[in-house]
Formats: sequence, structure tokens, C-alpha cells
Amino acid sequence: MSAEEKRTAAPERAQKIIVAIDGPAGAGKSTIARHLARHFGLLNLETGAMYRAFALKALRSDVSLDDARALEELARETEIRLEPGDQENLVLLDGEDVSGLIRNPTVTDAASRVSVFPAVRAWMVRLQQQVGARGGVVMEGRDIGTVVFPHAEVKIFLDAAPEVRGQRRYEQIGQKGTTPAPPPQEVLRDLRARDERDRNRADSPLKPAPDAVILDSTRMSLDQALAAAEAIVAEKLNLTS
Ligand code: C5P
Repeated sequence: MSAEEKRTAAPERAQKIIVAIDGPAGAGKSTIARHLARHFGLLNLETGAMYRAFALKALRSDVSLDDARALEELARETEIRLEPGDQENLVLLDGEDVSGLIRNPTVTDAASRVSVFPAVRAWMVRLQQQVGARGGVVMEGRDIGTVVFPHAEVKIFLDAAPEVRGQRRYEQIGQKGTTPAPPPQEVLRDLRARDERDRNRADSPLKPAPDAVILDSTRMSLDQALAAAEAIVAEKLNLTS
């Protein structure tokens, strides 16, 4: 294929492509996913928001976050829909827009806890495969390249040193300003606890897919990280047949 042919084929291919972005909390997945989606004309789907919505339901239902069977039953009577939004995804829990209720520390911790259970994960994976089935998506989470879409055309595993991720997360909470930011040490401690759980769970632990491109943004500015991620996708769009 000539360079010109590759260039003109790229937008068409982008319409079907699946870009999987995985990595620990605070690595910049959402920002990068949003950027890639805009740049390449793809839908941006945040799978963490789905786990968060389910966690909210568990908290509201007084179901123990350690009770696998009760959570499995709760999942059976729960409908979660994810729709692309302007900044963040719109998350519908049994028809209710809960997008603004799922980013606080209580739900964050609960999402990390309910997501260890295989029955919950199997249900989520099915839903995520349905929403991404037609392609043309950037899907971000912890197991997208390994479990949800192991055949995704592009896989990026985003990482950064824990201290850097903690600091970024702390600044993000401060910028939102909806709740007072907890002290930085507390943000880092919670982030490490979530990572531990994600990396060490038996079912679908957080790890890079063997064919993922590892992008470590520890020493990168945001613009550099965005440019690096963009280059990875552009290269795949041009070079894969
Ligand atoms: O990405 P986010 O921080 O919103 O995800 C919330 C929690 O949901 C994570 O801490 C993780 O435990 C869980 N999660 C997961 N698999 C995904 C996405 C999120 O286990 N694909």
C-alpha cells in the first residue's frame, strides 16, 4: 500500500477499530481515551463507570460488598447502560442517570470491591462486548485488551509511578471541587489499595496483554502522553492490513 493509500484508508478503518486502553487508577486512561476518541472519530466507553454504577446499586440495596451470591442476584435484576457523553460517559442504572453520583470515594472503593467477583465480571464483560461489538470505539478499563476484546486492533497499557498517579488524582479531585480533596497521602493510599486488589484478584487481574504497547507516562507531560498515544493508534491504522 502506498503512503497515500494508507492515509486515505485510515478514517474508514477507524470506524470499525477497537482501541483497548488498560492500566491502573490515575494513569490518565480517561483523558487519553477521550482525546483518542475525538481525534479518530470513535466512541469513548469507560467500563469503570459500569462497575461504579453497580457498586452504587449494591450500596443502596444494603447488600454486603463481600457477599458474592447476593451480588450475583443483584446483578440479575440490574440494568446498566453506558452512553457516550461530551466529557464523561452517561451512565444509566435501571434507567436513572447516575453519572454524577458514582465518582465519590465511597462508590470508588465499593466498585473496586465488587469487581473481584467472577459472576459480576462475567456479566459486565458480556455487556461491554455488546456495546463495543460494532467497533469504532475506544474502551478503557482494566481487562479490555486481555478479556473483553482480546482481538482489539490497538492495545495500550498506560502506566505511571504510583506517586505520580496519586498526585495527579489529588489534583483532579481539587479541580473538580465538588467535594473537599482528602490529604494527598490518603489519595495515594486508596489508589495503592485499589491497584493491589485489581492486580491480585484471581479473575482477570490487571496486567498488560502480551501484545499491548506499554506507555509509561511517569516523566511525560499531558501533551506528550496524548501525542504518544495518538502516534500508537495512527501507526496501527496505517500499518495493519
Ligand atoms: O476506571 P475506574 O477507576 O472508574 O474503575 C473503578 C473500579 O472498577 C476499578 O478500581 C476496578 O477495580 C474496577 N474495574 C475493573 N475492570 C474494568 C474497569 C474497572 O475491575 N474493566
